[in-house]
Amino acid sequence: MTDVLVIGAGMSGIACARALQTASVPVRLVDKGRGLGGRVATRRADVAGESITFDHGTQYLDQSEDAERIAKLGRGAVDVWQLGERTSRVVGVPGMAALPKALADGLDFTLNTRVTTVVERGALWEIETDAGNMTASHVVVTVPAPQLEPILGETHAIVQQATSAVMRPCLTLMAAFDRDTPAPFVTRRDANAVLTWIAQNNTKPGRSTAFQTWVAQAHPDWSETHIDADRSEIKTRMVDLLCSALSVAPSKLRHAGLQGWRYGLVETHLGQPFLSDGTLWAGGDWCCGPKVQDAWRSGTDIAASVLRTLETSAPVRSEVANQSG
Ligand SMILES: Cc1cc2nc3c(=O)[nH]c(=O)nc-3n(C[C@H](O)[C@H](O)[C@H](O)COP(=O)(O)OP(=O)(O)OC[C@H]3O[C@@H](n4cnc5c(N)ncnc54)[C@H](O)[C@@H]3O)c2cc1C
Repeated sequence: MTDVLVIGAGMSGIACARALQTASVPVRLVDKGRGLGGRVATRRADVAGESITFDHGTQYLDQSEDAERIAKLGRGAVDVWQLGERTSRVVGVPGMAALPKALADGLDFTLNTRVTTVVERGALWEIETDAGNMTASHVVVTVPAPQLEPILGETHAIVQQATSAVMRPCLTLMAAFDRDTPAPFVTRRDANAVLTWIAQNNTKPGRSTAFQTWVAQAHPDWSETHIDADRSEIKTRMVDLLCSALSVAPSKLRHAGLQGWRYGLVETHLGQPFLSDGTLWAGGDWCCGPKVQDAWRSGTDIAASVLRTLETSAPVRSEVANQSG
């Protein structure tokens, strides 16, 4: 039996693990996060006794065929967000994070576990994590491109090739106002503004309407300049910008939170679905595009490559075992 360890349980890791499990290959996902989905994420906040949520990463699935295929796989965890008479988008319900959770149903995964290094030892890989060591015969790494280096080492061929991918930060504000606050629009995209995307989160299906909730994403240039600045100062500046865009008095604000996605958005991708070196693969959106469906494609293409390798290689006895117990 040959086992595969997939590092990163975002959409690319989940796609890869699903395809391998379907082919009856024992596979385990490991992620440093508290939940599945990576940048397809939902943040919860308690405000005046009400539990409210914000989609602080991916906003929706677009209308491409590839995205629609993913939505179909996640049936039961998605719904339509009506943005106008003729405009709609597919979103996770009750939050975006419900989609990766549904897609990962039945997979073997370990959360809250950060992989620190992956080192080849004979026919096996030794994976060091902050919760103990593991071994595997095949390893798939689906972390954002700049996060490969600490895991694989600066001189690794995959790390060198991945440097061509450019990922930009995205500072994201989550704000809640009194529910009767006037809302001038549901979404606004303005590539020239500091807040390039503003969306009224509570208009998505299945969300709490106890407050009027907004998500605002800052321009990549502005985010890059401010990603290491004092977070409470940045939050205040983004709240002011949002209030001005909505023509709302800051006194109406009931809650504000800030997320700094350091490697949030793909600006330049590699133009190929993954990188590989023997029994090691690396992938994610940074390989083939900036969207969920690109991450998904990278993961499924890696799985196909792993399966080809398994078919052509001699059987290797191995285990993905948490040796720390
Ligand atoms: C603010 C924002 C808005 C977006 N909006 C949209 C949108 O509306 N529509 C759309 O299609 N796309 C959108 N995207 C892009 C989309 O989120 C990504 O393309 C996609 O989710 C990437 O998936 P992934 O699996 O490649 O990477 P990720 O989701 O980043 O998954 C990588 C995983 O690796 C884990 N990890 C990293 N390092 C380690 C380690 N050392 N050990 C263990 N685990 C580790 C992380 O915790 C993470 O879960 C948006 C992205 C952002 C940031």
